[in-house]
Amino acid sequence: MKVGLASIDGSIRSVVIGEPDVIILPLGAPTPDDVVRSPAALAQARSLALHAPRQDRDSVHLLAPLRAFNRDILCTGWNYWDHFFESAGRRQGQEPAEAPEHPTFFTKGPLSLTGPYEPIPFDPTISVQWDYEAELAIVIGKAGRSIPESRAAEHVAGVLVANDISQRDVQRAHGGQWLKGKSLDATTPIGPWLTTWDEVADVQDLDISFELNGVLMQSASTSEMAFSISRVIAELSWGMTLLPGDLILTGTPSGIGNARTPQEFLTEGDLLVTRIGGLGELRNRVAVASLSEYVAG
Ligand code: ZN
Repeated sequence: MKVGLASIDGSIRSVVIGEPDVIILPLGAPTPDDVVRSPAALAQARSLALHAPRQDRDSVHLLAPLRAFNRDILCTGWNYWDHFFESAGRRQGQEPAEAPEHPTFFTKGPLSLTGPYEPIPFDPTISVQWDYEAELAIVIGKAGRSIPESRAAEHVAGVLVANDISQRDVQRAHGGQWLKGKSLDATTPIGPWLTTWDEVADVQDLDISFELNGVLMQSASTSEMAFSISRVIAELSWGMTLLPGDLILTGTPSGIGNARTPQEFLTEGDLLVTRIGGLGELRNRVAVASLSEYVAG
């Protein structure tokens, strides 16, 4: 099932993405956050969808499908070898010695998330190196620690599309880390809906792409990942419990702006289209907004 959240007549409603319409679930129906945590909630959403009203997809404004987070978003760095090698010599102090034997992990704050069609707030006084990273995101459904690769799939509730928007100069300015250059408010679109795990035939065989103003900048298959989804789950959960609702970004393929010659960064008015085959696409416009003025509370 494809389940999402939408803003309808001023309230936030759970929806099921049908073909071609969107099914509007009644108020109080399970949300995608409920669905990833509970098979009973998934069954209830399925049953409610049978008799709920439908609406044309274009008339429904979808929101980020997940909003209840236990902690930061868990992220994987350099998980496609072509991206790892394209970035060689361009990481300004974040250069590993050689191809890593284990996946690289970092986190970004949950306030960095935004919806599939929202504008990306762009503040050039904070960064002049805004970059894009098309990524497959997975959501944990069942808690587990030291999960073996062979059982990793049992712990996944669903998948969605994400763009790990990053500010390269902010990454480098603060000691060559990731958190601070990847956590600006409302800059990381996810969605457009959650596709439940039972609908994914082969998570290592999905086309992933990113278009900037209609130009294809990234195009790959999840089969090209350096570390498979199962391996990422096994290594991340090694001695560290993963919880239902944990969102894991699984890395981006080659073609990012920082690694291009000349480098190509995002600017006002850019249209970002991030797509994964069968999972839908995010469409976000870069729009100037102030993130640098003091806001209390
Ligand atoms: Zn990333």
